[in-house]
Amino acid sequence: MKGVVFLGGRDLELREFPDPSPGPGEVVLEIKASGMCGSDLKFYRAPKGQSATAALGLGDRGPNIAGHEPCGVVAAVGPGVTEKQARVGQRVMQHHYRGCGVCDHCATGWMQLCQDGVAEIYGVTGHGAHARYMKCPARTLVPLPDALSFRAGAAISCGTGTAWGALQRLGLQGNHTIAIFGQGPVGLSATQLAASLGARVIALDTGPERLRRAKEFGAEVLINPKDTNDVVGAIRDVTGGRGAHLALDASSSPQARAQAVRCVRTWGKACFVGEGDSVTLDVSNDLLRRQVTLIGSWTFSTVGQAECARYLAERRIDIDPLFTHEWRLDQAEEAYRLFDTQTTGKGVFLM
Ligand SMILES: [Zn+2]
Ligand SMILES: [Zn+2]
Repeated sequence: MKGVVFLGGRDLELREFPDPSPGPGEVVLEIKASGMCGSDLKFYRAPKGQSATAALGLGDRGPNIAGHEPCGVVAAVGPGVTEKQARVGQRVMQHHYRGCGVCDHCATGWMQLCQDGVAEIYGVTGHGAHARYMKCPARTLVPLPDALSFRAGAAISCGTGTAWGALQRLGLQGNHTIAIFGQGPVGLSATQLAASLGARVIALDTGPERLRRAKEFGAEVLINPKDTNDVVGAIRDVTGGRGAHLALDASSSPQARAQAVRCVRTWGKACFVGEGDSVTLDVSNDLLRRQVTLIGSWTFSTVGQAECARYLAERRIDIDPLFTHEWRLDQAEEAYRLFDTQTTGKGVFLM
């Protein structure tokens, strides 16, 4: 089979790999949809000749097949996999981490927090889903409800699931106003989910097209930080001078992060979900003296992923429009070149 490999320096290639076969406790998935996530850009943009693992500071453990939003059907099961864990033909998503499987975090579905250190991040340190087949432990599978498309399952497997996880960590309620910084795939998902849960959403992005889409996905107030020199003031203006109850940064911009903390009201909560970079805060004024809670949120557990999927299915919430571009694997170069501009919606490879 062929799989997409990032070579660093915004270069990639479609490389030949042997078809995988499942070992004990493992399954092989036939991938139907493999999403493109903002964090893939970090590997795509790594220095020339540097693999994704080197870009993460994990040493060169490549070349691995990219793609950490896997969704498809079970094609083969290995020895020791029970019917309850996986059966051939089952529609599934994959939680794209492997841990020891027995520590407290693994046992509660947070394999990325494994006490022994995460053993594998699929699509980064292990082969991911930008290929026809993918091998993984049966315990990393999450059922895909019939009502959801494969592409929806791909989105839930990182971007949308990450937005869901962050809103859960924030304790979002329907009476809340939330400011969401960055309307890329994660921020836009957060906008859609928060609006569907009854909250009032203030969406921020420097791209007019992304703001327009945020409106379609349920944002009530749109703010382009390029159009104002006082973003926090603009948020206070539309919240009776108090500020938002909650704020979420999905942009990773140091400036936006500081604004996310400053725009919440006294007793408010802010959450950082965008990866990388930094932030500078005035601890006393921005946090302590306003009783602000600041949260970091990294993706979701297997349980949270299943819960997000069930919520979308039961409430008939259509997340397929998050995707603006569908690609075949042999179009990967063009797909990532366009995604790299960060002006579009989400892309997905359909197999
Ligand atoms: Zn991701
Ligand atoms: Zn563990």
